[in-house]
Amino acid sequence: MAKLPEPDELSKLDYTQPESGWMDTPTVFKDGIWCYGAKQKNLETLDFPNARQWSVAEEDWKLPENWQDIILKGFKELLDKYRSFKVFMDICVRCGACADKCHFFIGSGDPKNMPVLRAELLRSVYRGEFTKAGKMLGKLAGARPLTLDVLKEWWYYFFQCTECRRCSVFCPYGIDTAEITMMGRELLNLIGLNTDWISGPAANCFMKGNHLGLEPHAITSNLEYMLDDIEEITGIKITPTFNRKGAEILFVTPSGDLFADPGTYTCMGYLMLFHELGIDYTWSTYASEGGNFGFFTTNELAKRLNSKIYAEARRLGVKWILGGECGHMWRVLNQYMDTWNGPADFLQEPVSPITGTRFENAKSTKMVHIAEFTADLIRHKKLNLDPGRNDHLKLTFHDSCNTARGMGIFEEPRYIINNVANNFYEMHPNTTREKTFCCGSGSGLNASENMELRMRGGFPRANAVKDVHDKYGVNMLANICAIDRAALPPLMDYWVPGVGVTGVHELVANALIMKGEKERTTDLRSEPLQSAESKEEDKEESKEEDKDNA
Ligand code: SF4
Ligand code: SF4
Repeated sequence: MAKLPEPDELSKLDYTQPESGWMDTPTVFKDGIWCYGAKQKNLETLDFPNARQWSVAEEDWKLPENWQDIILKGFKELLDKYRSFKVFMDICVRCGACADKCHFFIGSGDPKNMPVLRAELLRSVYRGEFTKAGKMLGKLAGARPLTLDVLKEWWYYFFQCTECRRCSVFCPYGIDTAEITMMGRELLNLIGLNTDWISGPAANCFMKGNHLGLEPHAITSNLEYMLDDIEEITGIKITPTFNRKGAEILFVTPSGDLFADPGTYTCMGYLMLFHELGIDYTWSTYASEGGNFGFFTTNELAKRLNSKIYAEARRLGVKWILGGECGHMWRVLNQYMDTWNGPADFLQEPVSPITGTRFENAKSTKMVHIAEFTADLIRHKKLNLDPGRNDHLKLTFHDSCNTARGMGIFEEPRYIINNVANNFYEMHPNTTREKTFCCGSGSGLNASENMELRMRGGFPRANAVKDVHDKYGVNMLANICAIDRAALPPLMDYWVPGVGVTGVHELVANALIMKGEKERTTDLRSEPLQSAESKEEDKEESKEEDKDNA
């Protein structure tokens, strides 16, 4: 595995234009930037073509003899099937408005990470094969043939795009380079070219229902550990149900929250909130994954993996589905699920059992985002909250690309945070809401062998956090995405040490005054809560500091 350079070295960026044109600049695979190739066993599990042992580092990628024919036939099929893809191939005027908007370009200075150029990698072959001008004029018309070097260049750069869609916000034509990357990855998968960090979790999900490959008993025992911790902190014993037929609500969340910190604290937050409300809900150990690594592979695989959620809702006979804090899970649910696997007419339009609010935005999907659900509870004053319990935290909020740009969930998490905590500071507006910067590890890039890429891609996000850390002493980065909760801790440790990462429902549960709880002395991480006296001392200290600074 490549050694990660020190931050001082990595932040020396060179944006000088290369001397040769992009088509004449060969792609050099740099260690620390790319992920390992998909293993044979995972491709076989998924029933994907060209399952074999291969290595990205070797010259021979063991491709089928007719790989060019397969790719070009697939290309034509995608152009015929997706009108948006065809339009995106034709309408770019190369104005460059998107060029400096990608976090991978900002963090690497590599021109092929400019969204416009990333798309040109595919578009150049499109012109050569599918347009008259390209066929007649070749390079003069921006066309080039599909060679092995071109294919490898696709692989290198389509797995350096997190499909975050930031570039599309700035494109005057609304070209969505994320969709171009998705098409590029579809084509690569036709000849067995994926990364193992994607095909492994996808295969696990296919076999066991979740990315981590957790068996049902592992899921229940992980949750039991959390329940013991909750009992120790609050004195309250919670007994959730699993796979219970006839429950009103099925709760689905990413499996990352069942397994690894800090996601587990978010999961404890769900358990505590639902217990306090006394809602009639169940967990499923079969639809045990909200996330969908098929989405980073092919449309068809994403659809297959997604189908288990409705299938499980039908089997259990629930009325509607509540979904936890996740990013791409929600992009899939919000933008694709209804078309792929709906309409879910066997479910009912979701209504909060506590406030009576009818979630009309979920009329068709029958799935409600937990941030909407909880914000509604707070608005109706249904939660007894002590925001002072989060006073040891100075918070900022990272908009996850998928919930922000993919769903428009901007205000709900902020509304919740402002009601459960007293110290909240926004990052620069050019880095939040629809302009948010990616964590640098989305769309299946949060492996460990590509850590340099992740630190480079996360650089703009980390820079904005550093700004509020330096100005206001921010020490905690809140978010509503499981990949963020896995990807942001190493990013913060690298660029902004001293800043932790939390899910929003961890903050909710810290602040939640539960009926019958004992006096809490710690937060969910077993960190001591600040006493009233030490809060007074802190206030006095900061008054003194203000006087000194005046
Ligand atoms: S902003 Fe849009 S039209 Fe301009 S170069 Fe980028 S993709 Fe092309
Ligand atoms: S979708 Fe995101 S990662 Fe991909 S090119 Fe656009 S800005 Fe870069």
